[in-house]
Amino acid sequence: MAHPTDEILKEMQSPTGKDAEVLRAAYDFAKEAHGTELRKSGEPYIIHPRAIAITLAKLGMDRDTIVAGILHDTIEDTPVTLAEIETRFGSEVAAMVEGVTKLSKLKYRGVERHVESLRRLLVATANDVRVIIIKLADRLHNMETLEFVAPEKQRRIALETKEVYVPIAERLGIGVIKAQLEDLCMKTLEPEKYKETAAFLKEKSEHTQAALSETMKELRRALAEGGIKNFRTESRVKNVHSFATKLTRKDNDIDKVYDILAIRIIVPSLNDCYKALGIVHSLWRPIAGRVKDYIALPKPNGYRSLHTTILTPQKLIVEVQIRSEEMQRESKFGIASHFAYKQPGAEKNTALSWAWQFIPSLMKVGRAGGDQSGAAPMPRWLSELNEAANVFREQANFAKALKEDFLAARMFVFTPKGDVIDLPVGATAVDFAYSIHSDIGDTMVGAKVNGKMVQLSNPLKNGDIVEIITKKSATPNKKWLDFAKTSGAKHHIKNTLNRIESKGRP
Ligand code: MN
Repeated sequence: MAHPTDEILKEMQSPTGKDAEVLRAAYDFAKEAHGTELRKSGEPYIIHPRAIAITLAKLGMDRDTIVAGILHDTIEDTPVTLAEIETRFGSEVAAMVEGVTKLSKLKYRGVERHVESLRRLLVATANDVRVIIIKLADRLHNMETLEFVAPEKQRRIALETKEVYVPIAERLGIGVIKAQLEDLCMKTLEPEKYKETAAFLKEKSEHTQAALSETMKELRRALAEGGIKNFRTESRVKNVHSFATKLTRKDNDIDKVYDILAIRIIVPSLNDCYKALGIVHSLWRPIAGRVKDYIALPKPNGYRSLHTTILTPQKLIVEVQIRSEEMQRESKFGIASHFAYKQPGAEKNTALSWAWQFIPSLMKVGRAGGDQSGAAPMPRWLSELNEAANVFREQANFAKALKEDFLAARMFVFTPKGDVIDLPVGATAVDFAYSIHSDIGDTMVGAKVNGKMVQLSNPLKNGDIVEIITKKSATPNKKWLDFAKTSGAKHHIKNTLNRIESKGRP
């Protein structure tokens, strides 16, 4: 018999009979609890938890998380108690619902309280990262239905989303949610610019549709002839927000923004990525300086992919992104992708349960059915945990290090543009530079903190605004290793120094 949860189940990876049963029970329970309550849109309230459950299922989250998503507003808005949820759906679900309820009590108080809100959010997250993923799904649906909220509230909610939730989605590597939130924020905060940019992108993409499908056809033929099996391709127009940001960076000169169109090639293995890049470059002329190997040098949030921009004979400029299935999953779902593929019988339920959940797969070299890269398929901040694990083999020490280095002693510093970078307490401008991008770290020559030049070895303080000064020809200094705090920075400094040294040899 059809049930409103069917659409949720459809999005889950191989749901079981038990999954169907529990989801139905949760849905019926939540529907009953919310009763005649309505959304601002005038629809029955249950529409909202259901939308969240669908998002969570799409992200590949486990059943407990989806159930917690269905129940997420019951404690706050209905007579249902936590004890009741625990009896019916278990303690894990109850703990997550409690976490989401706690988070929703945090109210954003504008930029001056930014640091604190963000910190509180993140500290609350530390108990179970799944809570923040539910919260992100919640925020996404609220942003999608923002038009029904009073206009003066719309702006506040959009601003909060932009300054608190977007960076968190980014940090967790959940690209799909981040991109949607960014576009929705821009729509509310800069409606004119949004409309203009969206219209421009639409016109441009219609204009180039024929040439693009010709290009795609040619590409697929070349890949097949080149011996790449089981690949798939996608093409898309860039997101409104990311295009607008690029445009601003290029002084609003449309001619300088190449990648309005993007083609994605998804191949089975890491080796196929490089092979496909070769095929693309022998087919079309790449644009100089636009080839990026984010597989060998992933972005700080763990993003991996090969990028190149090519010029076709039809004068089409297209960004081509090449990645394996696993990289694709990670770039879309980030940390969430690791729930979907978690090992059965993984370690569970310590105070740091969410972190421990990842450790068994972190320790394993390669995974059945995964790509052959052998690299830890982790966002960088998670692989930092792995590095810490290697250093602190003893479990007790490791848990302590994890807590001290990663969860507890964090501080928040800002880029001159107001982006928030979180770092362990005691971190320096060197750590800051490397956490923005390894290229920035590698070419830094100085730093300004709150407008004043500082010694690179000076520890940063919470709330500092840090500006990194770079010089193209600069290279890292060995001394930085003495005061760099994060394993990410140390790792990059060593790598770059080694690379320079080995190049110097005959
Ligand atoms: Mn909600």
